[in-house]
Amino acid sequence: MLQFKLVLLGDSSVGKSSIVHRFVKDSFDEFRESTIGAAFLSQTIKLENEPDVTIKFEIWDTAGQERYKSLAPMYYRNANAALVVYDVTQADSLAKARSWVEELKSKVSDKDLVICLVGNKVDLCEDGSEPKAVEKEDAESYAAEHGLLFHEVSAKSGSGVSAVFQQIGSKLYAQ
Ligand code: GDP
Ligand code: MG
Repeated sequence: MLQFKLVLLGDSSVGKSSIVHRFVKDSFDEFRESTIGAAFLSQTIKLENEPDVTIKFEIWDTAGQERYKSLAPMYYRNANAALVVYDVTQADSLAKARSWVEELKSKVSDKDLVICLVGNKVDLCEDGSEPKAVEKEDAESYAAEHGLLFHEVSAKSGSGVSAVFQQIGSKLYAQ
């Protein structure tokens, strides 16, 4: 079994904790309380493309608020992977995600750090309740230019969530 540390970063309310809970507990809570400081959870998966490989993710779910920003380096410093999350219905949240990517690139010396850009809440656009503020192609090309993995997901429906961790796991295993 391989063990990797993964950190979640992104603006508050983009759905970081909801993504982690979908992945770890396969559930969604409409009225989740916002994270204070950071929360630790873990989950073990088998790689779909390498069924003999089991990967344990040790996950640090950070709070997005400005007042906790100084704590973030403590969590990303030793991370093997980072999920940088934005909300596809909030253009500002992508700008915030980009600033996290820049911070990771300038502060983390580990060249093997796997960064995955994740656009959450796609269910809101699919059911027509919110317009899409960030086009998939735009976020995808930003990710490609910066060497990031990229996924669109919904923590609410669960769509795309396991693919994020499968792809990160495969990449960490391969390198
Ligand atoms: P965090 O601050 O980034 O950890 O965000 P939370 O996980 O606490 O979620 C913030 C709010 O967005 C909560 O009210 C969630 O129920 C809601 N939310 C999170 N993910 C989704 C999603 O995929 N779809 C929808 N419709 N709402 C979501
Ligand atoms: Mg949270």
